Amino acid sequence: MAWHVVIAGGGFGGLYAARTLERILPPQSARITVVNDVNFMLYTPLLPGAAAGTLEPRHVVVPLREELSSADLRLGSVVGARPHENVLQVQQPEGAVEDLHYDHLVVALGSITRIFPIPGLAEHGIGFKTLPEAIAIRNRLLRCFEIAENMEDGRERAAYLTFVFVGAGYAGVEGLAELQDFAADAIDLYPRCKVTGTRFMMVEARDRLMGEIPAPLADFALRELRGRGIEVRLSTQLAEVESDRIRLSTGEWIPTHTLAWTAGVKAHPVVGEMGLPLSRTGRIEVDSFLQVKGLPNVWAIGDNAAVPDAAQKYKGETPPTAQHAMRQGRTVARNVAATIGAVGRKRKFTYKTLGVFVDMGRSQAVAQTLGIRWRGRPAWFLARTYHVLLMPSMNRRARLITDWTIGLFFGRDASELGMVGHPPGLHGQSSGGTGEDGTPVESDGFGGRAASPAQEPGEPGIDPGIVTRGNARWREAKPAVDPAADADAVESGDPAA
Ligand SMILES: Cc1cc2nc3c(=O)[nH]c(=O)nc-3n(C[C@H](O)[C@H](O)[C@H](O)COP(=O)(O)OP(=O)(O)OC[C@H]3O[C@@H](n4cnc5c(N)ncnc54)[C@H](O)[C@@H]3O)c2cc1C
Repeated sequence: MAWHVVIAGGGFGGLYAARTLERILPPQSARITVVNDVNFMLYTPLLPGAAAGTLEPRHVVVPLREELSSADLRLGSVVGARPHENVLQVQQPEGAVEDLHYDHLVVALGSITRIFPIPGLAEHGIGFKTLPEAIAIRNRLLRCFEIAENMEDGRERAAYLTFVFVGAGYAGVEGLAELQDFAADAIDLYPRCKVTGTRFMMVEARDRLMGEIPAPLADFALRELRGRGIEVRLSTQLAEVESDRIRLSTGEWIPTHTLAWTAGVKAHPVVGEMGLPLSRTGRIEVDSFLQVKGLPNVWAIGDNAAVPDAAQKYKGETPPTAQHAMRQGRTVARNVAATIGAVGRKRKFTYKTLGVFVDMGRSQAVAQTLGIRWRGRPAWFLARTYHVLLMPSMNRRARLITDWTIGLFFGRDASELGMVGHPPGLHGQSSGGTGEDGTPVESDGFGGRAASPAQEPGEPGIDPGIVTRGNARWREAKPAVDPAADADAVESGDPAA
């Protein structure tokens, strides 16, 4: 009988593992099932482009069914596992939890935003990790422009035109730079806002930007940001957040209605419910063959795995990057194939980063490839070429190139479509609307209900039975997935949980 290989998570790691298995395994030797909570893979390096309106949101995702040829896609949310019985527990979209039996399991469930207990952060901050969050930030900016345009009080208008990002890693720097670029285009449509001007600020606890890239490149990025008028506060922390202002560790209050939190990620919390050994960073402990310690038929890759890093002589863990996840996906596929005796032999994961690209919008980027450092337009051109080449399938590549080309000639669309896909029920057609029980729903001033951690700002009247997890929206099961885990997620306000 064919082996059953189950891959939990269809992101960078999971998709590359599935495609490699499809390619190398002899026909009929194994059944491959990919379990993912949405039917697409999010191409995160292009998320800032979606937030800035340079790319259509649909063009930064890869439909999994188009990419998988013989593997099955099971739409469902992994909620636990019983590894000693070879069972993965999957919650189906309608809420029922099923036991999925496997011979080999690859865990590739990624990560979520890591937040700290800063007063007000969970209630008022927006993450920048998922597609709903990226689109929410774009909508928030446009909504702030609309509100500010009708405001008489100059000080209040300035608060609506102030945008703060906390955390200067890849996601923060790219997100802030792209968003500011978008704002610089869009503000021409708002004469009063143009007189006041926008204020963009990056707050970073360390004394430099992007610890992941060499210091000279990070310095270039810093100069580029400051040259554009972006205030960069290094060695500064966020201390408190209120709905209309934030406080920094310096004691300074900054009036703002938009705080994007991009200060790091942590392994997806469901890995803590799977009975697997975890490292002190909360990632699944694996050896350099990507095999979970003590469980020879369970493997883990990507952001949720503590993979010994060959670049640090196996003393540290590989960083949470797509480059690593993809390559770990390929390695794990070969190792699973070798373990079931189908083909080849097991190999260690030995990848060392070959290059980095940080796209900063406005035809500017920094990059390092094979030891060569690039800046400015050449780096920007390289970054875009790299992403076009890496994006799976010609059809997706063509969409990227078309969006970028249209953006170059015609600029970006400034419509705020937060309501798309979420119509108010027929009983609640007003902006605030009513809840399912018919009671009025309080508006948050941004066209949505009063802030709820499981819901993106800018979304009107969401069905309260629907919860948002990462990129997925689910009808809440009865009983809930795991009441304790859910309570944690809500308490931490982490929309990606
Ligand atoms: C804004 C941003 C920009 C980035 N830019 C870069 C970059 O330029 N270069 C780079 O190398 N890296 C970049 N990264 C990091 C990169 O996105 C991650 O390291 C990479 O996605 C990790 O791959 P993964 O397979 O571990 O997880 P993911 O790609 O996140 O895949 C996890 C999958 O599991 C699914 N899932 C989650 N929970 C469940 C569940 N309970 N049940 C079922 N399915 C579930 C998710 O929907 C997802 O499809 C960026 C990240 C962000 C947020």
